[in-house]
Amino acid sequence: MKIIVDNKACAGHARCNEVAPGLYELDDNDYISTDGFDVEVGQQALARRGARACP
Ligand code: SF4
Repeated sequence: MKIIVDNKACAGHARCNEVAPGLYELDDNDYISTDGFDVEVGQQALARRGARACP
């Protein structure tokens, strides 16, 4: 499973990081700092919850 981030749409809410801090890394202004990452099988449910938390 791969998470693809639409960086241009990020508004810096940091909700993804609140739900899954080990997966969704933020910059110093709480904007997402990656454009995507692979998710291990055991972390896929957490990754989905993080993505759903994004407004
Ligand atoms: S929850 Fe969405 S808008 Fe907020 S930091 Fe994460 S990716 Fe950006």
